Amino acid sequence: MRYSETLLPTLKETPAEAEIVSHRLMLRAGFMHKLTSGIYSYLPYGLAAIRKVENIVREEMNRAGAHELLMPSVQPADLWKESGRYEKYGPELLRFRDRHDRESCLGPTHEEVITDIIRKMLHSYRDLPINLYQIQTKFRDEIRPRFGLMRGREFIMKDAYSFDVSDSAAEISYRRMYEAYRRIFTRCGLEFRAVQADSGAIGGSFSHEFMVLAETGEDTVVFCRECEYAANIEKAVIRLKENNQVEPLAELEKVETPGKRKVDAVCEFLQISPDQLVKTLVFIADSVPVGVLVRGDREVEEVKLKNLLGAADVEMIDDKQVYDITGVPTGYLGPVGLTIKIVVDQEVESMVNFYVGGNEKNYHMKNVNAIRDFEVSAVADLRQITTTDPCPECGGKLELTEGIEVGHVFKLGTGYSESMQATFQDENGQEKPFVMGCYGIGVSRVVAAAIEQNHDDNGIIFPVPLAPYTVIVLNLGLKDKKITEAAERLYSELQSQGVDVLLDDRDERPGSKFKDADLLGVPFRVTVGKSLTNSGLVEVRDRKSGATEEVTPDQVVAVLLSKIAVEQI
Ligand code: ATP
Ligand code: MG
Repeated sequence: MRYSETLLPTLKETPAEAEIVSHRLMLRAGFMHKLTSGIYSYLPYGLAAIRKVENIVREEMNRAGAHELLMPSVQPADLWKESGRYEKYGPELLRFRDRHDRESCLGPTHEEVITDIIRKMLHSYRDLPINLYQIQTKFRDEIRPRFGLMRGREFIMKDAYSFDVSDSAAEISYRRMYEAYRRIFTRCGLEFRAVQADSGAIGGSFSHEFMVLAETGEDTVVFCRECEYAANIEKAVIRLKENNQVEPLAELEKVETPGKRKVDAVCEFLQISPDQLVKTLVFIADSVPVGVLVRGDREVEEVKLKNLLGAADVEMIDDKQVYDITGVPTGYLGPVGLTIKIVVDQEVESMVNFYVGGNEKNYHMKNVNAIRDFEVSAVADLRQITTTDPCPECGGKLELTEGIEVGHVFKLGTGYSESMQATFQDENGQEKPFVMGCYGIGVSRVVAAAIEQNHDDNGIIFPVPLAPYTVIVLNLGLKDKKITEAAERLYSELQSQGVDVLLDDRDERPGSKFKDADLLGVPFRVTVGKSLTNSGLVEVRDRKSGATEEVTPDQVVAVLLSKIAVEQI
């Protein structure tokens, strides 16, 4: 590609709207152009990076025995009603009506469409297993689109779906995808971890997420220092410590706590510790208010709450909304006498004689006990795990880290095939539902995640397998015949060797060319300039290490090819 001919605008200034480094660098390096919130055009350089990811994904999916197809973005609502997800999916699903007033939606994922294809086209156990995938644009009306391509409303996903005759066969398909994902992210040059995950709106019984470790990740991963356990915090199961203390239930009492509204202030005033106090938080679950009780020093895990309530959406409400619903001023809410539905974290269930808000300004309650003093509609593991909790598998020490979810594999089971009546005939002629799995990769997000992990103050440092161009040739003497001829020759020789090469033939100062080459993150830079005239040499520089060497134009291609070979995974 000739820089002078393409659309590759670089910015010196850091765009104010970008909060994280990958977003800043992608905007500065001309990857994309924002059309509206969470919706971008991919410019040539950004698209070239996306294509690199797609190629790796394609190769590994094909190698794992999956076959590519392409399904539509527009999907009839009727299909989603059949699977029961039209209501359940919530406001992320973009719904609209066509000219015939038929309800439709833009696909955020394709379980319904693929199940419809398979139920109509495959009928026998002999046709199975099958695994089909596509690389396609998805639409999700995200509540908080942000960080550029990291969380867009429109983005590129690779989604694959497997169909098997039995659970054990589906297990093999799942494993195969899991291994393919390991290869894909390794080849992309990413530092990642596979963790146990919640199945979310997709449904299903079992899943793993592939997390790229980066401080800016929106997910928190918990892992054990002593065993293999690793999970998304949303999923991490809490193993309660044994509580053998038996304390008799004491009489309920009202205590004055003037002006003390926050957990710390109440505890200090009453001379108690936060583990003796229980917080009452109010969430709206699909428009119904629910009181959630957790210990004073704990946080509610919304995903666990959502799963318990079977809700599409749960959101904690603010003090004013709590007052409107309960009539209780900020900081004094408690479960005793509260009329909304109450669910309780399992840890609270094992507490006796604890403190709660008194449902009255300046008062709390003492010696409170669940069930005796208020009605409980459910008890469950509802809080977030912390590093003070033991590993749920081995009891070892836990650690937390941030991660970016780049891929997700699900064991779906027969949920979709049963609701959509997708069946095949088994060996005995019996109709059975297909056992399904589904497997996603955020292709556009992978590019952003790779940049989060690979950059410095000067710009991006692309791992060779993802770099849109492996080599940039700088022509620093546009008007010098010898320099220009050498740069042009190098450009065509590298191209003929199959190297992705960008020729900077713009009429720009050398300083800006060097800066842009760094910003774009091209792994190898070849400078053709004064050295050629003076000593017959060109300079080769490695973007990652900064190491340079001077070689003759005749040697350059061989030198570069051997460097590239080392970096190709
Ligand atoms: P998240 O928790 O980040 O919203 P998800 O669990 O909703 O992700 P999946 O339904 O598993 O995502 O989708 C498969 C993959 O698509 C994810 O692993 C992620 O890499 C990518 N992805 C999901 N939502 C977005 C988005 N809004 N923008 C870009 N990529 C996305
Ligand atoms: Mg999501």
